[in-house]
Amino acid sequence: MATTHNLGFPRIGAGRELKKALEAYWRSDINDEQLEATAAELRKRHWILQRDLGIDLVPAGDFALYDQMLNMTALLGATPSRFNAGGHNVGLDLYFAMARGTATQPAMEMTKWFDTNYHYIVPEFDSHTSFRIGSPRLFNEVAEARALGIVPKVVLIGPLTYLYLGKATTSDFNRLDLLADLLPVYRDILARLASMGVEWVQIDEPVLALDLDEKWLGGLDQAYTILKETGTPPKLLLATYFEAVDNHATRLKNLPVDGLHIDLCRAPDQLDTFLDGYPAGKVLSLGIIDGRNVWRADLTQVFSILSRAQSVLGERLWVAPSCSLLHCPVDLELEPRLDEEIKSWLAFSAQKLNEISILGRGLNEGENAIRETLIASAKARQARAESPRIHRPVMQERLKRLTQDDIGRTNPFSVRQARQRERLQLPLLPTTTIGSFPQTPEIRQARAAFKKGELGNLQYLEAMRDEIQLAIRKQEEIGLDVLVHGEPERNDMVEYFGEQLWGYVFTENGWVQSYGSRCVKPPILYGDIFRPEPMTVDWIQYAQSLTEKPVKGMLTGPITMLMWSFVRDDQPRSHTALQLALAIRDEVADLEQAGIGVIQIDEPAFREGLPLKKRDWNEYLRWAVEAFRVASSGVRDETQIHTHMCYSEFHDILPAIADMDADVITIETSRSRMELLDAFGHFKYPNEIGPGVYDIHSPRIPQTREMLELLEKACLVINPAQLWVNPDCGLKTRGWPEVVTALKRMVEAAVLLRARL
Ligand code: GLN
Ligand code: ZN
Repeated sequence: MATTHNLGFPRIGAGRELKKALEAYWRSDINDEQLEATAAELRKRHWILQRDLGIDLVPAGDFALYDQMLNMTALLGATPSRFNAGGHNVGLDLYFAMARGTATQPAMEMTKWFDTNYHYIVPEFDSHTSFRIGSPRLFNEVAEARALGIVPKVVLIGPLTYLYLGKATTSDFNRLDLLADLLPVYRDILARLASMGVEWVQIDEPVLALDLDEKWLGGLDQAYTILKETGTPPKLLLATYFEAVDNHATRLKNLPVDGLHIDLCRAPDQLDTFLDGYPAGKVLSLGIIDGRNVWRADLTQVFSILSRAQSVLGERLWVAPSCSLLHCPVDLELEPRLDEEIKSWLAFSAQKLNEISILGRGLNEGENAIRETLIASAKARQARAESPRIHRPVMQERLKRLTQDDIGRTNPFSVRQARQRERLQLPLLPTTTIGSFPQTPEIRQARAAFKKGELGNLQYLEAMRDEIQLAIRKQEEIGLDVLVHGEPERNDMVEYFGEQLWGYVFTENGWVQSYGSRCVKPPILYGDIFRPEPMTVDWIQYAQSLTEKPVKGMLTGPITMLMWSFVRDDQPRSHTALQLALAIRDEVADLEQAGIGVIQIDEPAFREGLPLKKRDWNEYLRWAVEAFRVASSGVRDETQIHTHMCYSEFHDILPAIADMDADVITIETSRSRMELLDAFGHFKYPNEIGPGVYDIHSPRIPQTREMLELLEKACLVINPAQLWVNPDCGLKTRGWPEVVTALKRMVEAAVLLRARL
């Protein structure tokens, strides 16, 4: 019999119950018992749902009130000493203190979970870090499942991944040195789970998908040898995902564990390497239903792959999603208003588990038992492939006509720079902002009323125009050189454009956890992209009509549109990026036509698009840069193209950044005190650059002197003639009074420095 299982279920709840309960708890509107009751209710609901869908092994330990890595920190008793936990068990207060900070301690750092949009809490280690079981939560949850008659497969993050993803807060030791102390605690945990009747533990080691050096790989051998030393249950399934691990196939096959899970969605080609000489007595779990996207699987094709694997593995074949379904919305049934045709192409978590269960049945009872479903799946697939909704010949034609000339500006930067200077007449160290101004409660209310139909089209337009006018007045008063319209009409930088492009649909409840209680609803890009009409021109033109100063048009770039959406799986991502780029190129042309002289194309997600393995970086950078160039280079020399990225770690991709050839790039540098700008200096970055001098993430208003110092530092690294002065990022989360004060000081700093140059 083939076994079906799930690597993890989205915990936030179909109605975002966990989010609501958490936020109510943080506001003290509910107490800890009420919060725990909601959490228990969700776990129960999800276990029963998965069991009823026919999943043989349902996961426990995949639930977290905030984050799964933070859960491990609690379970392993690894609370950083700065929280003064003094060896106490991690209760709710301490748990949330680590996640969110306290009056005296900043929160633990948060960072992206591999190449997903999920963020985990980074473990903090020093040479004194010690481990012991620090929370009974996992065991309680296993007991809850058992009380429901479910023997769960328990999910743990593996010791290597836990250490690798943490950070050392002192430099006197290596994280890997902690392994020896860590393993006994893992052994205790496993023993305790075994005593509760747990038969299988899934140990996630996603770091195996990264480029690991020999030391860490040696750690892997050491870890699992020790964990399995006693030879007693539970059995271990070592799970990898997000990339191929076939470079480690021999090592993994020899590891003393009871089974492996591999991702066949991201890396379908690795199957044969694993099947070849796969050790008898070990389970191989195939992650064949995509946990990272929303499309219905091609069950016929999947079934034939599984059948082939079954002929080698027999009962040792397990079937699963590629990774935890954490990264997928919960249930497609919650989308009654979604276009029926498009809906028939989709599968969210519940539907994906159903697919897995069907595949399991086919493997166990023979293909005939699921023939109907296979036929239906093939039909849906076929219908999708042939749907006119997906294929827009106009777009295909344009892509074909794309030439080398379209992929770069007509003249090199030096020529453009001279023309832009002549046109724009900006002072040295020109001042600007990144785009958004405060999204006030009034703006949000107006948008909500407009969406509900309580506010008419014209009224909404007027309300937003008033906001633009306000933003322009304030910027003139502040004395900025290049103004923006302030983005009041935008809810979200991807959604705003997605809503106006053909080829995108939006869900009502397709929430995916981003971090803690925060969820996002990524739009679904399903078809060829087409821009039926200008998307931003009216707003920018209106803003420009209010001032003599140049107003910067504001667009979202192709890579960010791609990264923050669920994208089609029926063509390469590079192709989709190019289509988005063409739509943006048209918008850029229309803005130029309307007399706008400065246009910014934001690419905050450019870096996060980098593949997990370095060997794939060049390929990604090639098409990502090309997409940006297609989007940005249809303009005349004197039109100035800006881009913005909200980080500044560029040292390893600077050639690509320079290749994007934006006339100006603005980045975040204030928190690193300009240190990260050094890389640009060493590289002799050729174009203009605006290193952020004001940290917009903090409510603190910087002093003129501080910003002046940062600018002076910047001048040591970059030729002042190349420098711009701006904040780190957009100001939409801030309030007007602080923004005005901070920007006035920023302008003052620029003026002071100018006088000296
Ligand atoms: N123009 C956007 C803003 O200012 C950029 C947002 C971002 O960098 N994420 O809000
Ligand atoms: Zn930003």
